[in-house]
Amino acid sequence: CGIVAYIGHREACPIILKGLHRLEYRGYDSAGVALLNGTLNVYKKKGKVNDLENFIAGKDLHAQIGMGHTRWATHGEPNDVNAHPHYSTSERIAIIHNGIIENYASLKTHLQQQGHVFHSDTDTEVFVNLIEEIQSKNNCSLEEAVRLALHEVVGAYAIVVLSKDAPNQLIAARKGSPLVIGVGQNEFFLASDATPIIEYTNEVVYVNDYEIVVIRDGKLDIQSKEAVQQTPYIQKLELAL
Ligand code: GLU
Repeated sequence: CGIVAYIGHREACPIILKGLHRLEYRGYDSAGVALLNGTLNVYKKKGKVNDLENFIAGKDLHAQIGMGHTRWATHGEPNDVNAHPHYSTSERIAIIHNGIIENYASLKTHLQQQGHVFHSDTDTEVFVNLIEEIQSKNNCSLEEAVRLALHEVVGAYAIVVLSKDAPNQLIAARKGSPLVIGVGQNEFFLASDATPIIEYTNEVVYVNDYEIVVIRDGKLDIQSKEAVQQTPYIQKLELAL
C-alpha cells in the first residue's frame, strides 16, 4: 500500500525506512526493503515498520540504491513470505508492487511450465517472474523486459524493480496506483505520495498511467508503454512540513 525508493549518493536504507513511516497512515500489514549494492538483499516482515527495523538491526544495510514497501494484502495472507519485495526465481531481480494483477493465475501457470518457482501466494511474485522470463527469452535489457511485461499484465500497479545485473539503475512504472518522483541533486526518490520526499526536495514529477521510469547514472528517463520518450514535467511543491 506504500512505496518508497531511493537512488543517489546517500545511504538508501534510512531514507526508505523514514519514508515508510511517513506512509504508515495509508494502512498496511507487513513491510520490507531491498538494497542493491553488488548484491541484492531483501528483508521483510509481517507487522509494523518498527518490526522490520528490529529485524534488520545489525545487518549490513550499506547501499545507495534501494526500495521499501508496506503491504495491504490482496492475494495471500499477511505473513513474512507474502511480504514484499519479491525476488524472481533466479533472485537476480526484485520487485515491490502496489495494486492487483488480475490475470496472475494464468500467467503463473505459464511461468511454472517454463520452470519458474514460486514461494508466495501473491500476484506480485508472478509479475517479477514474468519480467525475468521475458528478459531471458528475448535477451533484452531490464527496462525492455519491464515494458513488454506491462503489455501482458491486466490490473493496477505501481512497481519498482531492481536487478543485480543493472547495479546503477532503478525502474518504475504505474497504472492506476499512484507514484511520484522526487528530483534532487544527483539523487532521486520515488514514493506513493510526496510525503516521504518533501524533506529532501520540492521538485516532483507525477508519473502518468502507462509510463515507465528509468533512473540510471543520475539521469531520469520517462517513456511510454510504446517506448516513446516523454518529457518529464517537473512541478514545484509548496508544502509546509
Ligand atoms: N496485490 C499485492 C499483494 O497482495 C500488493 C498489495 C498492495 O498493494 O500492498 O501482495
